[in-house]
Amino acid sequence: MRQKITRLGRPRLLALITLVAVIGSVTISVVVNTMIGRALDSGGIFIAIAAPVILAPSIGWYLIGLMMRIHQLEEEARTIATYDMLTNLLTRRAFLTSCESAYQIARRNKSPLSVAYIDIDNFKKLNDTYGHGGGDEVLKSLGLTINKYKRASDLAGRIGGEEFALAFPDTNLEGALHMAEKLCQMARNSRVAYENKLIEYTISIGVNTSGKAGDGDLYQILKHSDEALYQAKRAGKNRVVAYQEETGTDSSR
Ligand code: GH3
Ligand code: MG
Ligand code: MG
Repeated sequence: MRQKITRLGRPRLLALITLVAVIGSVTISVVVNTMIGRALDSGGIFIAIAAPVILAPSIGWYLIGLMMRIHQLEEEARTIATYDMLTNLLTRRAFLTSCESAYQIARRNKSPLSVAYIDIDNFKKLNDTYGHGGGDEVLKSLGLTINKYKRASDLAGRIGGEEFALAFPDTNLEGALHMAEKLCQMARNSRVAYENKLIEYTISIGVNTSGKAGDGDLYQILKHSDEALYQAKRAGKNRVVAYQEETGTDSSR
């Protein structure tokens, strides 16, 4: 709607609204006068034309402004629901929705879809040491790293406080593990500047892929990625672990 209004221009739209209002007003006057058996005199015609010419532009101006504001608020709400404000990655909901579409496409094409669950290690301690602002800088930095590193077709979201997820369409477990290892290394080597300090941090990643026995649907695949992440934490953090279908346990890398 806003695009249509912008394309037409407010003055032209107001002229159109006024013209429609005049035609409507004159038509109603003629019909009403005919029904009560009276001829429309020049005074009546003047009022039928003058009233909409005076009122329609101001009412139209107000309504167009209102419509544009509603449209703007709708767009803002959509952006807030889709993108995480701190990292600019997808929100949890938007990530899961996009992931579901990617999963359906992968199934149709019989191609693998791999998923990586990422969690910053000891983030609570990091917050305690550098303050919430320092923690936020680390979140932003990791978000930027993920965004720069991922391929255009990959999906990336911040799915919790210090939890992120990546979905790699058309990528098998080996490919996803390679991506995850690289990301883990990038985090390990990064230094986040905050208040004249350089913050170091590490991440743990759990990786899983579609098309395995037992992984009936997307949520099963995600659940097993989360389990692999848990295994990575238990194995000492700062590492990538792949979910193993046979035992449900990990294979640390
Ligand atoms: P682990 O290595 O096992 O993952 O431990 P952890 O300390 O990283 O995990 P835990 O779940 O104990 O703590 C997560 C912390 O993340 C707690 C919460 O205060 C913090 N947090 C959540 N959201 C935000 C945020 O938006 N900004 C900042 N700075 N901190 C956040
Ligand atoms: Mg953590
Ligand atoms: Mg966590």
